[in-house]
Parts: sequence; C-alpha cells; structure tokens
Amino acid sequence: MTLRQFLEQQQAQGLYRTRRLVQSPQQPEMRVDGQRVISFCSNDYLGLANHPEVRRSFQQASERYGVGSGAAHLVNGHSLAHHRLEAALAEFTGYPRALLFSTGYMANLGVTQALLQRGDTVFADRLNHASLLDGARLSGARLWRYRHNDTESLAGYLERSEATKRLIMTDGVFSMEGDLALLPELVALAKQHDAWLMVDDAHGFGVLGPQGKGSLAHYGIAPADLPIYMATLGKALGTAGAFVAGSETLIEYLIQTARSYIYTTASPPAIAAATLKSLEIVQAEPERRAQLQTLIQQFRSNALDLDLPLLTSSTAIQGILVGDSPTAVKLSEQLLAAGLLVTAIRPPTVPKGTARLRITLSAAHTAQHIDRLIDALAKNRSLLKKQA
Ligand SMILES: *Cc1c(COP(=O)(O)O)cnc(C)c1O
Repeated sequence: MTLRQFLEQQQAQGLYRTRRLVQSPQQPEMRVDGQRVISFCSNDYLGLANHPEVRRSFQQASERYGVGSGAAHLVNGHSLAHHRLEAALAEFTGYPRALLFSTGYMANLGVTQALLQRGDTVFADRLNHASLLDGARLSGARLWRYRHNDTESLAGYLERSEATKRLIMTDGVFSMEGDLALLPELVALAKQHDAWLMVDDAHGFGVLGPQGKGSLAHYGIAPADLPIYMATLGKALGTAGAFVAGSETLIEYLIQTARSYIYTTASPPAIAAATLKSLEIVQAEPERRAQLQTLIQQFRSNALDLDLPLLTSSTAIQGILVGDSPTAVKLSEQLLAAGLLVTAIRPPTVPKGTARLRITLSAAHTAQHIDRLIDALAKNRSLLKKQA
C-alpha cells in the first residue's frame, strides 16, 4: 500500500485524524477553529492549566531562569527549579526520591528500557496506555498482555513465567475507560511472584485519594509496597512533564541508564516552577476535587436516566460506548454543531468495535455545562440506540 492509499483508506473507514486549532487557553469555555465551544476533552481535571497563580509562577521563573534549559539534566540543564520540584514530588508521594522526565511518554520508555532487557518479562494490562506498551517493546523483554483488570489472567502468566526479572505494569486509572486498576490485588501478586510493579498514574495523580495523592493513596497502599510510581504533570497538575518516584537506588539507576532521561534537553525551568505552584494548589484546595466529584455524579445520574451506554467509571473520564467509528465521528460532529467539543476515540487507540465518545470533566466545569452536554446527548440518542 502506498502512503496515499493508506490515507485514503483511513478516510474511508472513519479513522482519519485531524487537528483542531485552539485559540484560547485550555479551559471549559474555549475558542477552537474560530468557534466558541464548551470543551469536554481536556485532561485539565482541576482547572489549573490557566490558573492565574500558576501563570504568575511561570512568568516569574522565566525572568529568573530565561526560557530554555540549554542542556540535558546531566550536562548543565538541571536547575534549582527542577531540583525543588523533584524534592516536593518525593515528599508529596511519600517516596524517598523522584525524577523528572520531559514527558510521560519518555518516562515510560525510560523506565522499561533501563530496567529490562531480552530474557526479562513484562506483564501488562491489555488496556494500558500506548507508552507503556512501546516501552515494553523497546526494552526487548518478552511481553505478556493480560486481560483487562483480570488478576487471574495475570496470575496464570506469572505462574508460567520462568524469567528472573519480571515487571508488572498498569495504568492507575485507565485512560480510555476511566476505571481503576485493582492495585491491592496487583501488589499481592507482585509480592507473591517476586515481580516489580509499576503504576502509571497519569489520570489519578492530583485527583484521587486524600490531598490528591493518587491511586495508591486512594487504596491506602504504602509506597514501600509499590516500587515504581510514575505520574504525569500535564493532566491534573495543568503544566507539562512527568516524574518517576521510587527508592534512592531506583532513581540513581534511572539517572545513570534511562536513555530518554539522559539524551534529551531538560524541560524549561519555568515549567518546573509553575508545577511546584500547582502542586501547592492541589494540596491546599480540596474543594476542586469535591467539585469534580459533584459534576461526575451529576453527569452519570443524568446520562443513566437517559439510558445512555455509559462505561463503568467513577472518575473524571466518562466514556459512552458507540461501537463503530463512523457513528462515533458523526456524534462528535453533532455535538460540535451544538457548541460542545467531545472527541470520538477510535481504533487503534481503543479495541476494534469499541469506538466511543470520551468525555472528560473538570472542576472548572459548571452544572450548566453538564446540563448542556446532557441535552445535546439526549437530542442525538437515536444514533446511540442504533448501536445497542
Ligand atoms: C497522557 C498519558 C501518558 C503520556 O504522558 P505525556 O506527558 O502526555 O507524554 C502516559 N500514560 C498515560 C496513562 C497517559 O494518560
């Protein structure tokens, strides 16, 4: 198939992806492609991406440090701002140390490539984020993908595996479903089978558990029982980047060996300074998480009253299962015509035949925003019914 044929095929199958042009800050009421919309597709769960104090910290830090970090962390790009943020993240998560990466994708590639090689084995939930999958592939380790949230399926693989180094990897909150990993069971299995356990808490950090400490805190799991914790900063924290938290030894090992840490320019120090401010807000303003919970309840109870095919989720990620890709795209277009931005998620991001609308809620939404979404979904219910 030529490149052009591939593109035409994607179009014919409703799989073609296009980019929208954002002309405002990331917030519920946005200007996108010249149109005023209410957005339900940002991961800015706490409304911090355009928070005035976070912006001010960013500006002040750019006065002090300039814009570019100029070099990799191991050359001379590791600024005081980065260092302070790492210390704050370690303290907040309860791990001995934390290490900043420029993106979550790079953090996941870095950890797996550094810890594993040919002859080792990765056990991964089938619905894990693509970056965990890519990391596992990059490492050269054998990859076993267990059924989603199915600890029996995982236990079966663990029992059959003869590898000495084994790593279980899971999303804390699954990014396209919104459900939680069964972490207590995974912790027990990892102990029983002498495997490492790594959680990618991109969608739990800042949102779940007391003070927003994430999925572990939600379940009351002690950091000592879960050796590798990773989370991103571009979602609930509203800035950019990611970190891995773990033991002193793990973090030093990653500094020495994780290629996506070593061979890349450090992210701008002002990003780290802004993130430090948002981490303070995350801790100081639990009302943001309470508001988010209220909106999730409002959305779910109204959607269930309408009999919409909601996925089971108690988090800010709420999926409406559509099935085929063209219908999902059509629904998304109908919602856009009503001024509501909701993305259609299609294969290969989700398994074939499970195209869906992925609605993400934010503490910055209002009850009126949810009402408008519910109204528009009600008007387009016929498209959903046909699928069921
Ligand atoms: C968004 C996301 C990532 C990637 O993080 P970036 O900082 O955007 O590169 C990794 N894992 C999960 C589960 C995510 O949702």
